[in-house]
Amino acid sequence: MKGFQGVSTDVWRDWRWQMRERVLDEQVLADLVRLTADERAAIEATRGVFRWSITPYYASLMDPDDPACPVRRQVVPSLSEVEPDLVGVVDPLEEMAHSPVRNVIHNYRDRVAFCVTTECAIYCRYCLRKRMVGDAEQMMSRSELREGIAYIAAHPEIRDVLVTGGDPLTYGDRMLDWLLGELRAIGHVEIIRIGTRMPVKLPYRIDDALCSVLARHHPLWLNTHFNHPKELTPDAAESIDRLLRAGVPVGNQTVLLKGINDDADTLRDLFEGLVRMRVRPYYLYQSQLIGGTAAFRTSIERGMDLMESLRGRTSGFAIPVYVLDTPFGKVPLDRSWVMGRSGDHVVMRTTRGETWAEPNPVPVSEEGVRGRLPEIPMPEGAHTIATGPGAREAGWVVQATDAV
Ligand SMILES: *Cc1c(COP(=O)(O)O)cnc(C)c1O
Repeated sequence: MKGFQGVSTDVWRDWRWQMRERVLDEQVLADLVRLTADERAAIEATRGVFRWSITPYYASLMDPDDPACPVRRQVVPSLSEVEPDLVGVVDPLEEMAHSPVRNVIHNYRDRVAFCVTTECAIYCRYCLRKRMVGDAEQMMSRSELREGIAYIAAHPEIRDVLVTGGDPLTYGDRMLDWLLGELRAIGHVEIIRIGTRMPVKLPYRIDDALCSVLARHHPLWLNTHFNHPKELTPDAAESIDRLLRAGVPVGNQTVLLKGINDDADTLRDLFEGLVRMRVRPYYLYQSQLIGGTAAFRTSIERGMDLMESLRGRTSGFAIPVYVLDTPFGKVPLDRSWVMGRSGDHVVMRTTRGETWAEPNPVPVSEEGVRGRLPEIPMPEGAHTIATGPGAREAGWVVQATDAV
């Protein structure tokens, strides 16, 4: 394995070098890890479907010999991505229907998610926004950004703006300063939040120059996205420390991923490691029904069991809230919201008083969870995902959600 050995520390820690030298090519990847026949075939088969790219830093965390490595599986294409996926859809949260102007998702009254770029430094194979992320043709233009800003300015009920993407920290400092300044100039925008995976995949992006830009636009919060204890490196910890010293509170959103972090010890190590770095675990997401991500999905019962295994066994603030995102907003997956299982659906109340039926067939390997939730008849008028190719054939349409 040759790879990036011999690169000086100064060069290695230069975030622009890391962006330029991203691994995008099978040959380069083969110099870093012993690629399996499956991985090679998947790189071919996913071409034009969903891009892949890995920073040298993140690549250095991969196990060269183990294709099941939890870091490697997040970023190296797998053949499961192109297998038929009955329940997978392109936009399960109906984000496009909730976007009055391009990439401003206004689903909650008082806050919006503003997807300011489709660029990322790495492309997580389970990405929620596969429909747009990594697609150079869907880049936001400066005039589209201005439209988004104008929409927020015209809606005084918006007090919280989540700047996300893609990854907004792929922007250069000057561009980011401009964008945050425009948002900060809107009187009713109380808080700005940044959603970024840079501390995980490219911690050198969090440099002093960036931190001084961020510190100009307080109150500013940041959520990042660690999924596995292997990602909690000294370099990642240093990037978090810089953010905290700039006065930016840091939270973490983890996605529950089958075979990567869906066991109690891994989750506890992850969450305890995060609080040692002074990062507050915020959400644990049930993995969404994104087409081509079936291999990552667990049953909801499995997630609920894992959450229960944490309570009472670690610091309260090391425990995030386990949620499912739906077109009706996020629903905490605990007994107070989850009503039961109706065959292949898990049925829950939403905060808006509607009932949501999430297609969640129990994976063969998790048969043991059956009976964990009460089996209930499908409630009258429950909503579910209606748009997925194959969803109707599979008999999963209860009632189409109302497109906004
Ligand atoms: C998750 C999300 C938010 C933020 O929700 P919080 O629960 O406040 O973190 C805002 N808008 C959209 C569209 C979201 O998906």
